[in-house]
Amino acid sequence: MSRLGGAVENGLHDGLSDMCLLEPLEEDAFIDNLQRRFQGDQIYTYIGSVVISVNPYQSLPLYTHEVIFQYRSRNIYELPPHIYAITDDAYRSMRDRNLDQCVIISGESGAGKTEASKVIMQFVAAVSGKGANIDRVKEQLLQSNPVLEGLYIHGVIKNKNFNDFLFTAFGNAKTTRNDNSSRFGKYMDIEFDYKGDPVGGVITNYLLEKSRVIWQSKGERNFHIFYQLLSGADTSFLKSLKLLRNPESYAFLRHGGCSHIESVDDKHNFTVIKNAMKVIGFKENELSLVFQLVACVLKLGNIHFQHISNFDGTDGCKLINEEEVDEVCDLLGCVSSDLIDALRHRSVRTNTETVQMDLSATEATYARDALCKAIYSRLFSWLVARINDSIRVKSRGKRKSMGVLDIYGFEIFDTNSFEQFIINFCNEKLQQLFIELTLREEQEEYIAEGVQWINVDYFNNAVICDLIEKNNQGILAMLDEECLRPGDTTDQTFLQKLNSLCCTHQHFESRGCRKTQSDRTLPLDAFRLIHYAGAVTYKVTGFLDKNNDLLFRDLSYAMFSCSHPLLQLIFPEGNPQRSSLKRPATAGSQFKVSVNDLMRNLKTKCPNYIRCIKPNDYKRPGLFVKEIVLHQVRYLGLMENVRVRRAGYAFRQIYEQFLYRYKMLCSDTWPLWHGTAKEGVARLFAKLGVHDQDCAFGVTKIFIRNPRTLFCMEDMRKLKM
Ligand code: ADP
Ligand code: MG
Repeated sequence: MSRLGGAVENGLHDGLSDMCLLEPLEEDAFIDNLQRRFQGDQIYTYIGSVVISVNPYQSLPLYTHEVIFQYRSRNIYELPPHIYAITDDAYRSMRDRNLDQCVIISGESGAGKTEASKVIMQFVAAVSGKGANIDRVKEQLLQSNPVLEGLYIHGVIKNKNFNDFLFTAFGNAKTTRNDNSSRFGKYMDIEFDYKGDPVGGVITNYLLEKSRVIWQSKGERNFHIFYQLLSGADTSFLKSLKLLRNPESYAFLRHGGCSHIESVDDKHNFTVIKNAMKVIGFKENELSLVFQLVACVLKLGNIHFQHISNFDGTDGCKLINEEEVDEVCDLLGCVSSDLIDALRHRSVRTNTETVQMDLSATEATYARDALCKAIYSRLFSWLVARINDSIRVKSRGKRKSMGVLDIYGFEIFDTNSFEQFIINFCNEKLQQLFIELTLREEQEEYIAEGVQWINVDYFNNAVICDLIEKNNQGILAMLDEECLRPGDTTDQTFLQKLNSLCCTHQHFESRGCRKTQSDRTLPLDAFRLIHYAGAVTYKVTGFLDKNNDLLFRDLSYAMFSCSHPLLQLIFPEGNPQRSSLKRPATAGSQFKVSVNDLMRNLKTKCPNYIRCIKPNDYKRPGLFVKEIVLHQVRYLGLMENVRVRRAGYAFRQIYEQFLYRYKMLCSDTWPLWHGTAKEGVARLFAKLGVHDQDCAFGVTKIFIRNPRTLFCMEDMRKLKM
């Protein structure tokens, strides 16, 4: 079956397998096509070589060894769309043509991104080489997943049901949308030797949702590892960590009101995680160090401060459960009075001296929360670094690589804040990359085929990226300026600054701008960006605070002064010898740097895309809610994807294959035909009256601009058959 065969023949029953052939190209038709396919259990659909995946919420027989075998070394369009098809294509281009690859997976929470990344890994593991050494590497690469995400990948390898996964982890949590939601972005480069066998990898993590450590919404949980530790650790280990078994004993685990989930066996998963950590190479004492920090976070969460009035009338606070602090200090190896001091005071340096200021109870609680978030998120980054140590390629020699990016898609909630702003910025950058790389690829193919480039209509979002990240002028730069400028800066002064500088920008709106001053849909404390995928309103409340991401220096010092070796490693700025007065980079600028690093890396590779869609909000199989899908189609920019993909010609195919299918439409001349396939296609088009402006004759392929031409030919073919 050719691409066309697959796309058109199935057309009537299961919908089109390639959205590029949709005619007319309209949102309704796009959604209808997805729905029709979904109802026929066809969860994958192409936009050119982009895969759209609609979460089936049930295990379909799509991932067996037989299916892997079918897709192995076959042309991408010969079989129905599948992640295996593009992975196979990517893997072979990497192995045989030395082209490094990346797979970019996007979509909202619960859409199936992480599952998709595992399907890729499963395929690569199955088709690449065998042997003890390679198997060890594969095992290590795959084992890193349960530690970070709590999913036991061997479930996939053995083709178990997707729901059979054992849930555990440091980076995943139960949310209302997904019982096992990854709360961080992950990029993993798998490296291969010249034969195409995996030799190691590198993982980069982005934006762990650290606010979850201290607070969860109703129906949600903290990171899995807390519950796993409490229910899975044996009594003596718990005792050594000074922990109680019941999660309800800990304030940080009580907010969501659901410390236990029916479908999850925390106790069993603790064993799985510990084993995984051992496979990766963690020593017994390292495991203890890690769990000591996990325990401290829980225990610090139970510390409370009470308001007191100082003699001079200022606010101060005192600690009400000192024994908890004593236990924390036992675990961390520090003097309680030092930690208590650091929690209750803040040192302010003037030109001549350092003075200690008392914190109010609220401020001290804020400082405590910041400390817990810092300990957990730095521990997480350390774990990633530690995993990288064990999977990093040790052998020399030239390597090839395949990267897999699993990161939040565009986010739009009822209230959007700094986090959404940052995530959406990342998605703008990914869209920019998509445009650049897709057009580059198109252009290269046109040049190779000697086809003239025609200009196309698509929206280039570079202006929005600039609006956000331009040096000294972008929104991020202005935010930093407000964070670093001395004096009374607030979220409001930040908004005023934006108003004075961005109002003329066509993608910026706020009530402070003349053009939108009477727009009542815009709150007074917000600005709106017109993203490539649609408009998003951001409330400025908390922007400065979140960008600052301040941990009072006193706490860094206190952490570094502990004898706990891991703490010293993750709080290097607390070292009095190395301490500088320079403030650490803001959250926004750190993210900008890491996103730009990522883009630079991805740009050196051939891109492959998987766009994941969630068909309903109830995790229910078989239910396709149009409005919910439409929303995602818009925010994933899928219509825009088709437009860019169809930039010039919607369809292209090697002459021989094309002629083979359609020569019957010209049967009078055919039996006597002896020319080349290219001439044959020319003859065929002359007979059918296909105009020159509707097609182009490349060196090896025929290019067709409008899918309608194809559909007509298909109809004629059916009539003749
Ligand atoms: P995301 O990473 O986008 O938040 P996940 O990959 O964790 O979403 O998927 C959420 C849940 O949806 C999974 O736990 C699984 O139950 C189901 N799911 C996702 N993809 C598939 C699939 N291809 N087949 C079956 N179930 C799936
Ligand atoms: Mg995920």
